[in-house]
Amino acid sequence: MRQSQTLIPTLKETPADAEIKSHQLLVRAGFIRQTASGVYSFLPMGNKVLKNVEKIVREEMEKAGAVEMLMPALQLSDLWKETGRWYTMGPELMRLNDRHEREFALGATHEEVVTSLIGDEVKSYKKLPLYVYQIQTKFRDEKRPRFGLLRGREFIMKDAYTFHTDQESLDEAYQKMYQAYSNIFTRCGLNFRAVIADSGAMGGKDTHEFMVLSEIGEDTIAYSDTSDFAANIEMAPVHVTYEQSDEAALDLEMVDTPGYKTMVEVSEFLGLPLEQGIKSLLFKVDERFVLVLSRGDHEINDIKLKNALAATNVELASEHETKQLLNTEVGSVGPIDVPEDIEVIADHAVSVIRNGYCGANKNDKHYRNVNPDRDFKVSSYQDLRFIQEGDPSPDGQGKIKFAKGIEVGHIFKLGQFYAEKLGAQYLNEQGKQATMTMGCYGIGVSRTLAAIVEQYHDDNGIKWPKEITPYHVHLIAVNPKNQEQQVLAEKIYEQLQENNISVLFDDRKERPGVKFADSDLIGLPVRITVGKKAAEGYVECKLRENGEQEDLHVSELIDKINSLLK
Ligand code: ATP
Ligand code: MG
Repeated sequence: MRQSQTLIPTLKETPADAEIKSHQLLVRAGFIRQTASGVYSFLPMGNKVLKNVEKIVREEMEKAGAVEMLMPALQLSDLWKETGRWYTMGPELMRLNDRHEREFALGATHEEVVTSLIGDEVKSYKKLPLYVYQIQTKFRDEKRPRFGLLRGREFIMKDAYTFHTDQESLDEAYQKMYQAYSNIFTRCGLNFRAVIADSGAMGGKDTHEFMVLSEIGEDTIAYSDTSDFAANIEMAPVHVTYEQSDEAALDLEMVDTPGYKTMVEVSEFLGLPLEQGIKSLLFKVDERFVLVLSRGDHEINDIKLKNALAATNVELASEHETKQLLNTEVGSVGPIDVPEDIEVIADHAVSVIRNGYCGANKNDKHYRNVNPDRDFKVSSYQDLRFIQEGDPSPDGQGKIKFAKGIEVGHIFKLGQFYAEKLGAQYLNEQGKQATMTMGCYGIGVSRTLAAIVEQYHDDNGIKWPKEITPYHVHLIAVNPKNQEQQVLAEKIYEQLQENNISVLFDDRKERPGVKFADSDLIGLPVRITVGKKAAEGYVECKLRENGEQEDLHVSELIDKINSLLK
């Protein structure tokens, strides 16, 4: 492609609203443009890299046995009402009416449409299992669209769905998709981890998120420093055997703690370690209140809390509610003498605290020498806290470390939830009606593109990995007005194309400095510069990856480039 004929509107300045590198560089290099908050156009170069990611996704999906289809973005509300998501998805689901005032949603995901479709078309066990997928635009009215392609309101997703007669068949599909995802992100050149995303099934094999390791990631991954264990910290189970001290239990004592409210303040004031503190938080759990205890240096994980209490909603009680129920300010809440109707539950670590301290449910007062089960009752001890760095890995191997990650993919065993709601039934081998079992598997294709740029760039621009790059070679004629350079550059341009090496030819009448800066910014793997030595048949070959450069004779050019791109 001749650069003069395509559209690559590069920018010198970093766009003011672009906080992260991938956003800045994709805009500056002329790959994308924003048209509304979280809504982007893919310009010719952006479209090329997007298609390259899609190509990898397609190849690996087909290899896993999935067939491609395309479902509508415009979806009648009826299906969404049948699954209840019309009501639970809230404002994230984009809604609109047609001229007859019928309600529609713009597809945020396709479980509803695909389940109803396959349920209608597949009537017999003989057609199962069935794996289908699509690559399509999704719409979500995100609360905070940001970071360019990472969190858009209109974005490209690959979504796959599998349909089965039984769990075993679903397990098999899950394994195949897991492998396909690993292949896809490896081929994209990404440094990623598959992380457990559900503690419901301990050691949870029922949902994994694929996370690209990156400082700007919104998720925190807890991983083992020795094994391949990795989990989203939201879910990571804590397996610690806490030691009970053999210290004698002392008499309970109320002390003044004037103005000291936080665990740290009270710990310092009393001169006792944080680990001996009992942090007490009043939560509103659906319609009731629960007092939740943890060790002073631990944090309650509300997802674990929600699972432990089989609740749909948990949130901290307000200051007002706390005052009404416990007659004290938040900083002095504690588990001793709480009203009967408030359940008290605690994280395992609390059970071994000896002579600890906690709020006294009186303003500016705390208790010391507190001993659980002697001084207050706990209805159950459970795993309720966030895992911490240095904790033992839940698989028993090594210690936990943290890393930040960008979620690029998510695989999930749905079971029969959607099939039941939408009546996806088939005739089984015994001729009886049965409900299908399903899995779903998403990849943020446009998000993956941004994640690649996050991992492949330097101060001057992008450094595209070989399978993703829009073109392999950037051919630059330093001075197109120079006859020798012009002729040689044209000849090389032709030769590269004949040898199926994709090439972007900078034939623009721009200053060399501009061409080189644009070339670094755009980031193709190999740069061939036709300059002063053109008369002798020599050109310069430079690698974007590491800046290595050498002079090459035209006669050896093709072989050299082929070996570089292997
Ligand atoms: P997140 O927690 O980041 O909001 P999600 O759990 O809502 O993601 P899924 O519903 O599992 O995401 O969607 C499948 C994939 O689609 C995600 O793994 C992610 O890669 C991508 N994705 C989700 N939301 C967006 C978005 N707003 N912009 C770009 N990609 C997205
Ligand atoms: Mg989301």
